[in-house]
Amino acid sequence: MRVLFAADGWDHWAPAIRAACPEAELLQSAPDDSVDAIIYAPNGPGCDFAAYPSARLVQSLWAGVERIAPDPSLTQPLARMVDPGLEQGMREYCAGWVLRLHLGMDSYAQDGIWRNAVVPPLAQQRRVTVLGAGALGQAVALALKDLGFDVVSWSASGRGAPGVPALAGRDLPQALARAEILLLLLPDTAETRGLLNAETMALLPQGAAIINPGRGTLIEDTALLAALDRGHISQAILDVFQTEPLPPEHPFWSHPGVVVTPHIASETRVETAATVVAENLRRVMRDQPPLHLVDRAKGY
Ligand code: NDP
Repeated sequence: MRVLFAADGWDHWAPAIRAACPEAELLQSAPDDSVDAIIYAPNGPGCDFAAYPSARLVQSLWAGVERIAPDPSLTQPLARMVDPGLEQGMREYCAGWVLRLHLGMDSYAQDGIWRNAVVPPLAQQRRVTVLGAGALGQAVALALKDLGFDVVSWSASGRGAPGVPALAGRDLPQALARAEILLLLLPDTAETRGLLNAETMALLPQGAAIINPGRGTLIEDTALLAALDRGHISQAILDVFQTEPLPPEHPFWSHPGVVVTPHIASETRVETAATVVAENLRRVMRDQPPLHLVDRAKGY
């Protein structure tokens, strides 16, 4: 089986994929079209998918496929990355920020004041909503449930993680109205762009906090800044932005209610993801349908 690797990080990926799938002949360039599968990420040398009509799979190394799915040269089945290491990283990022916001950890300054009048809240008293119940949304919702949070998830279909109450598409107002802490783990699609705007943000409870490790396009920046200025939103932890890197002059950098993290919430981990790639390559070899196929019409 000939597999074209068209992504950044050959030195890390090649040994790991070869170890996980010795049957695959991994190539950095393929002069003819006799390629059975393509491993791809937009950070690599690029790829004209139309040059490889015999390829039966394009395996993305990234979970978000908004920069791949619309490519007009791509006619082959596209699989997104679902990686246990990526999920673990996202669990840790989200649980860390939810706990910090929930416990008000930033209110304890080194200023000599003994602030012991507040009984710290328990997780079960904190209502959290996770928008998106895919691989990452479910992993995060389960981790928060295990910590004791009163967590609900929301997705188009209403699917959710076992034991976590799940709301569907038209229940968005209900999902927002309860969210003292709101997490966004939705993909960037035509349907989700601007989902969090002035109208929908107004449905959140007074003082709600937002954590967005999904995509920058999910939020209308000016509406968020206005809601922060009014105090309707107390804090926004933002990992992803309409333009990345976030331009130095963007008001998010200086707003006291915003924390900017530079798209580091989680990463595909070579150690665990190589096994996932290997499984899909083997499926192609056996003429079985690959796992985690993208619905190109939906865009995720
Ligand atoms: P999945 O494709 O597994 O899940 C997507 C979820 O979003 C599904 O539950 C889906 O609903 C829901 N959804 C999609 N469109 C809508 C809509 N219009 N209305 C309501 N729900 C919708 O994706 P992952 O969980 O793997 O990843 C989510 C996103 O996280 C990625 O697309 C990427 O943008 C982001 N990401 C960010 C990283 C970072 O470091 N900041 C790292 C990796 C990913 P349904 O279940 O009904 O289909």
